[in-house]
Amino acid sequence: MAASDPGFNFDLDGDTLREECGVFGIYGHDDAAALTALGLHALQHRGQEAAGIVAFNGERFNSERRLGLVGDHFSNENTIKRLQGRVALGHVRYSTTGETILRNVQPLFAELATGGLAVAHNGNLTNGLTLRRELVAQGAICQSTSDTEVILHLVARSQKPRLVERYIDALRALEGAYSLVAMTNKKLIGARDPLGIRPLILGELNGAYILCSETCALDIIGARFVREVENGEVIVISEDGVESLRPFPRMHPRPCVFEYVYFSRPDSILGGRSVYEVRKQFGRQLAQEAPADVDVIIPVPDSGVPAALGYSQEAGIPFELGIIRNHYVGRTFIEPADHIRHLGVRLKHNANRALIEGKRIILVDDSIVRGTTSSKIVEMVRSAGAREVHMRIAAPPTTDPCFYGIDTPERDKLLASRYDVAGMAKYIGVDSLAFLSIGGLYRAMGLPGRDPVNPTFCDACFTGDYPISLDDVHGVEDRQLSLLVEPA
Ligand code: SF4
Repeated sequence: MAASDPGFNFDLDGDTLREECGVFGIYGHDDAAALTALGLHALQHRGQEAAGIVAFNGERFNSERRLGLVGDHFSNENTIKRLQGRVALGHVRYSTTGETILRNVQPLFAELATGGLAVAHNGNLTNGLTLRRELVAQGAICQSTSDTEVILHLVARSQKPRLVERYIDALRALEGAYSLVAMTNKKLIGARDPLGIRPLILGELNGAYILCSETCALDIIGARFVREVENGEVIVISEDGVESLRPFPRMHPRPCVFEYVYFSRPDSILGGRSVYEVRKQFGRQLAQEAPADVDVIIPVPDSGVPAALGYSQEAGIPFELGIIRNHYVGRTFIEPADHIRHLGVRLKHNANRALIEGKRIILVDDSIVRGTTSSKIVEMVRSAGAREVHMRIAAPPTTDPCFYGIDTPERDKLLASRYDVAGMAKYIGVDSLAFLSIGGLYRAMGLPGRDPVNPTFCDACFTGDYPISLDDVHGVEDRQLSLLVEPA
């Protein structure tokens, strides 16, 4: 299902992987908040449950944090007027750690001995609960249930004299995936975890510097891509310009490969590669690995489109839009009555009967999570008269959950952890099913294959090879985050 899809929040079965967050910060522009709102709008696919912006007007920090979409709140002129200043920091989120309640909406802000500090986080700390438990035992009072608040506490408690040193001190305690942007009254600070799991980009617009999750957020404001923040790098932006710090020992980077498969927008450039072109290459590779004698290649819209195009071009079989997506599915239908719930998939997708009837088809998608949506789509194209239905997935089977900032079902809910490929084919009701191999995934990106000792990417959801220890998963039994229940 399309991460870039405005109707993406419509997910009746929880049958998608969802990106946790997007971040956008800008330093040194008169329209900082308005540009941040636009940047967040371009990053909306990374989180649709809540959005927030903090701006510094030279004297005070102003914050607006809301549940809902960016456009629902930050297209309002009065809201932007309340966020005056030349420095602003914004965030869009899903909740993987902490419920969606307003006190969890980022950027989080704290008044420290050194002044105000706002933090926006993309990723997930694998020792967040452990750290939180230690802090609470020492007397810390936590307002949110978000692991990001732990970072504020750690900065507050550091004994270092300067804010940047305190901030780096706090980073040293963190394990997991983090692309962080923080803001003080004088600085914008970006940080990427030592493996660089989640993306972070540096851009520039008329002398103002930007830190954001994807290049599509630079495009929307006409900004220039400067470079990616490197794994383990801390970037400090101030009146003196851009300073790069390397406080951690250098490590081999392991960025998330699923950003290419599904999360990032296809018009973004990541790791020097066009996400769209990579997805097409996945489709080409898949056509080589798993051919089938069919009449037509049909993408599951929208995220299956580039891979289906690549498959079609490689196989020399026509590409057709055999499934049409309704662009106007919103939250109105998010909880339909039980007796029409089984029709849910048809609210979003409909088979194009004129193209499908009597044909042997291949459906191309980017992933199968629980399998519920795939089986409904297969049933839909069969009832539209498809003679044979084959499915090709432009990634390896998703066998393991993500603990680095992607909202995945538990392992036993993932179809690929429950069945082999033949069992999965039977479950979703197709004549044949095939996935891109893990080696093929790497080869499609121009690499010789997957180096098992030093893989180029984090690919744990396909291999179970987790590059960062999972302290909270293995060591904490009491996972209760909050005793306070608040209305969303
Ligand atoms: Fe990305 Fe999968 Fe690694 Fe999570 S486990 S960071 S989704 S590759």
